[in-house]
Amino acid sequence: MNVNWKIKQKIKKILQNEQGMQITAPGSRSGFALVYPNTYRVGMSNLGLHVIYGQINRRDDTACERAFFPDRADVPLYTATNTPIMTIETQRPLAAFPLIGFILSFEMDYINALKILTWGKIPLRSDARAETDPLVIAGGPCATFNPEPVADYFDALVIGEGEEVIHTLIDTVYACRNKRLNRRDTLLALANIEGVYVPRFYHPVYAADGTLEKISHDPGVPSIVRRRWIRDLDQYRAATEVVTKNTEFSGMFLIEISRGCGRHCRFCMAGYCFRNPRVRSLAALRPMLERAASYGLKAGLVGAAVSDHPEIDRICAAIAELGIGISVSSLRADSVSEQLLAALAASGHKTVTFAPEAGSEAARAVINKGISDEDIYRAVKSAVRAGIPNVRLYFMVGLPYQEAKKEAASIIALARNIKSVMQEAQIKSQPKGKLTLSINTFVPKPFTPFQWTAMSPLAAAAETL
Ligand code: SF4
Repeated sequence: MNVNWKIKQKIKKILQNEQGMQITAPGSRSGFALVYPNTYRVGMSNLGLHVIYGQINRRDDTACERAFFPDRADVPLYTATNTPIMTIETQRPLAAFPLIGFILSFEMDYINALKILTWGKIPLRSDARAETDPLVIAGGPCATFNPEPVADYFDALVIGEGEEVIHTLIDTVYACRNKRLNRRDTLLALANIEGVYVPRFYHPVYAADGTLEKISHDPGVPSIVRRRWIRDLDQYRAATEVVTKNTEFSGMFLIEISRGCGRHCRFCMAGYCFRNPRVRSLAALRPMLERAASYGLKAGLVGAAVSDHPEIDRICAAIAELGIGISVSSLRADSVSEQLLAALAASGHKTVTFAPEAGSEAARAVINKGISDEDIYRAVKSAVRAGIPNVRLYFMVGLPYQEAKKEAASIIALARNIKSVMQEAQIKSQPKGKLTLSINTFVPKPFTPFQWTAMSPLAAAAETL
């Protein structure tokens, strides 16, 4: 296999700028290549990658190494020199690993995953792989909720949360290897792990009109693949494992404080697909917060609705005691506390983000958002008074059962009112705040109540915007 020297040097440079990565001498442990099918910068911003990397590397029999899709500027060099995708830790080609695990967080990454396999010199289709080829598995939100588009390309897909199942899966592969089982029998063993879907044993049966009639399955595998979810988040660490400046969250140490969401907005995967809603206790979070402090990084709190965490004010206090900053993504306007806003302001935040999603209360009732205009005004006022001058609002257009013109008009009206609230609440010594609207089209997501509703045609969405 050709390995381009320039590419190898570039990967080594990435490694030099990391802290917390684990490098094990090749051959001392069995290898597991963990692949994020997007660039290093995007992949290293994904907390799921860190969680699985940490889980696998805490085993004493397996060395987990990361691999990513090349930066766009490097793609011509990879293709021109026929260089395979290599891991960051030891710059070995993917094909050198007996187990390859992809993290599928976004459907748009499916294509990249296939390109990585091709460039990694691994047969693309599961049924084309030989006994000596790596086992190629995938996990992550998209593997769980929309596996079929890529079912022919992965030997197995993890349905649900990976923290527990990854260990059972690896143990099973090693047990099969020790028994010298062939590829098919190994996959059969994997198919019998709860939460593992091995597509080759399941067969869609279509009716004459082309609709799906049923899914039949081979003998020896369960008829239903059940989603795995962990009952007690406190049992698992979920924080940044490898620190680098080259991420979307540079200067931040990501810590997951909750998973799933009890609000059940009808468009949102977090509310339906990561059931049941769970929180990590402050006691379990404390060591992760201390780790953030040891790196001198802000604690980037991750969760579907961070302000809903029952201990959020105590978490803010613990972070303040450690003398580090705090960062969050968007906040629920009806649950954001004065203490959280004060902590964000003290951490230097100049912008706070809320997600009304729709301009009118009636539309918000349809999507079950559960936030009134008053909630939004109150939250914006509190944020500006706390010293956060700028406000960003997330909206969607093309929501089910909405008239495009009314949607647009209600967003404009709400934005005008919010602008007035911001002006009234403005602290004299502060510069004038900026209101930013981020407007996207509604995309129906699997397993949500809106999964079968239509997406707005491009022309209609463009007109509304
Ligand atoms: S949109 Fe936000 S509040 Fe609603 S279910 Fe999703 S994460 Fe929860």
